[in-house]
Amino acid sequence: MQLVGQSCVHCQQRISRDLDGGFCQHCGCATHSVCQQRAVATPSEGACPACAVPRAILEERAEAEETRIRESQSREGLHLALMGFAVLVGGLLSTICCTAAAGAGQLVIASGAILGGVSMIVAGFVRNARSGRQ
Ligand SMILES: [Zn+2]
Ligand SMILES: [Zn+2]
Repeated sequence: MQLVGQSCVHCQQRISRDLDGGFCQHCGCATHSVCQQRAVATPSEGACPACAVPRAILEERAEAEETRIRESQSREGLHLALMGFAVLVGGLLSTICCTAAAGAGQLVIASGAILGGVSMIVAGFVRNARSGRQ
């Protein structure tokens, strides 16, 4: 991640130069070196031991990160389900085509594609539901 353009967790101002600050090794927050030194001198309870970011901000960040992960998981799940649907439709279409080509009385089922599509849909929805429940 790039430091320049991040806002300092202590003063909320943007960090305009790499030299002005850094990321905390402990919690990953971006801080100005000056702000960090000032904050470390008078740490609040539960603050990050390395950069003295108040606990409230740490919790907020953790929550935002969790939400982000959850959202991307549910997007992935939906994506998988859609792909599964496409595979399933493909399987059904080739079943119809092959059956038509094989002539009357013979049913040619593209079972691999159909089963694969169904299992992808199921896996996608399971992932989606799991990420929504937490
Ligand atoms: Zn600052
Ligand atoms: Zn920290």
